[in-house]
Amino acid sequence: MLFQQQPPTLGNQYLDDPVLHSYLKRVLPPDVLREVEPELIEMGRLAGGDMYQMQLADRLNEPRLTQWDAWGNRIDHIELTPLWRAAEKIAAEHGVVATAYEQKHGRFSRVQQCALAYLFTPSTDIYSCPLAMTDGAARTLLSSGNQTLIERAVPHLTTRDPNQFWTSGQWMTELTGGSDVGLSETIARPDNANERNADETSSEPPTRNWLLFGRKWFTSAATSQIALTLARPEGNPPGGRGLALFYLEMRDACGQLRNIRIERLKDKLGTRKVPTAELTLDGAPAQLVAGTTDGVKNITPLLSITRLWNGISAAALMRRSVALALDYARKRTAFGAPLAEKPLHMDTLAGLQAESKAAFHIAFFVAELTGRAETNEISQDESMLLRLLTPLMKLTTARQAVAVTSEALEAFGGAGYVEDTGLPVLLRDAQVLPIWEGTTNVLALDALRALGPDDRALQVLKDEAGRLISNVDGKLASVVRNALAHAESWLITARKSGELEAGARRFALTLGRTMELALLCKQGSRSAQRFASEGVDRIWR
Ligand SMILES: Cc1cc2nc3c(=O)[nH]c(=O)nc-3n(C[C@H](O)[C@H](O)[C@H](O)COP(=O)(O)OP(=O)(O)OC[C@H]3O[C@@H](n4cnc5c(N)ncnc54)[C@H](O)[C@@H]3O)c2cc1C
Repeated sequence: MLFQQQPPTLGNQYLDDPVLHSYLKRVLPPDVLREVEPELIEMGRLAGGDMYQMQLADRLNEPRLTQWDAWGNRIDHIELTPLWRAAEKIAAEHGVVATAYEQKHGRFSRVQQCALAYLFTPSTDIYSCPLAMTDGAARTLLSSGNQTLIERAVPHLTTRDPNQFWTSGQWMTELTGGSDVGLSETIARPDNANERNADETSSEPPTRNWLLFGRKWFTSAATSQIALTLARPEGNPPGGRGLALFYLEMRDACGQLRNIRIERLKDKLGTRKVPTAELTLDGAPAQLVAGTTDGVKNITPLLSITRLWNGISAAALMRRSVALALDYARKRTAFGAPLAEKPLHMDTLAGLQAESKAAFHIAFFVAELTGRAETNEISQDESMLLRLLTPLMKLTTARQAVAVTSEALEAFGGAGYVEDTGLPVLLRDAQVLPIWEGTTNVLALDALRALGPDDRALQVLKDEAGRLISNVDGKLASVVRNALAHAESWLITARKSGELEAGARRFALTLGRTMELALLCKQGSRSAQRFASEGVDRIWR
């Protein structure tokens, strides 16, 4: 009866992470690393300390929607939990979005920002969701060249001042489909009654010339100030091309929703702190971002950024699971010794570490390329590689996150299944990663499109993998080469036999895992061998 089990604890999540250190040391110039480290140490301290404690204390809280006030007025107010309110302030002050736009370190700013997001995410119960969409909205508006909207919103989306900070939603999914958004039913009508708002001093958005009518079926972060959304201007043709990209501000100067009703919050398996809502747009005022068609194409910059965040979040949740499991292995005794001295237990954790490191490296490699693209320091081949690797990275890391967090819970035995340990939420939250921002299958098909004319992008990927393994011992290098050669020959055969679509997922996972192995080799990671032993080639022989 005297036995007491010590729970797993976390230290400074930056200082305790040799994978992040050695990576940053490899890719950042020494002066940049010196300058960014204090911020990372501070975020690591918060993530393993105050924020983690706040997260455990906030466990039972969930966002609450109040639709009516006591006097019968529709208010649709969402109350966030204390953790999320704190996370918003911390995110703004520490520049978890802003860093990428301040560009203090040129193309390395994106890597720096992703390192901050990686440390921040696992202690905030997916506050990364609104931040990802905010980052994506800023990038999309900047790419659109729409100066009015850029001047109106981007300073808010990228500020470090919590009082000025805005987050953005991304409203694409409708009842008709989240994958096939071309089926969207929301329509846009010109608002002839309110053409331009000529009053420059007004707090209203500068133009209010369209009204949106429809239902948005999954809108996370429904407390955001703005959203980018798709709607079909009346008279436009069906399909994705007939949709336009719109910007809207959710509330007026008095805080009232602008012809938007929040019908309910989703009752979800995980991401339960995220207020994912069903919305009705009943004449919501909105502005065009970039023309009256091609909305799906015009929202692509947003999806590239949210997919990058998805990969960083996947790596971060895996790393958190492994960090807790390793600490627990030192504190839990079975059969006369700590689990950390049991070869089989440690072998199991080594497998998780290998997957986690592989996910880390591919996600940060995409961050490196994104940083190059954002500073126009990218070659044509690298652009093709980024286009191909973004879906590959997202789908590969998301599947790894579900597998790793699931296995990590088992490493705690029964405790891993018990809610007040704070552990099960890791698995529940990871389970969303393969679903939102494009499911595994949808992204696998996207990867086929990203191969480009004559499968040029596959050649670029092969060349890149070749460079990554150029100094590597024969056996690991041949695993990489053989898997890529198999993928290439499968592609040719499958095209001829009509099996391309059915095999797209296995093809994409093979490319994703092979690039992960090549990146582990480049890093000189001791986990490369272990990762290779789990297999990278997912194509049927
Ligand atoms: C917690 C949460 C929050 C979300 N937040 C947002 C948000 O803020 N904004 C937003 O716009 N959306 C959001 N979504 C919606 C999400 O992006 C969609 O659920 C997702 O894109 C899938 O769309 P769907 O649900 O309509 O499924 P469907 O498109 O119906 O897909 C069903 C299944 O069919 C498969 N499939 C579809 N097409 C093909 C094909 N051609 N070949 C093979 N398989 C295929 C899919 O892979 C999937 O397994 C959120 C979802 C969740 C769970």
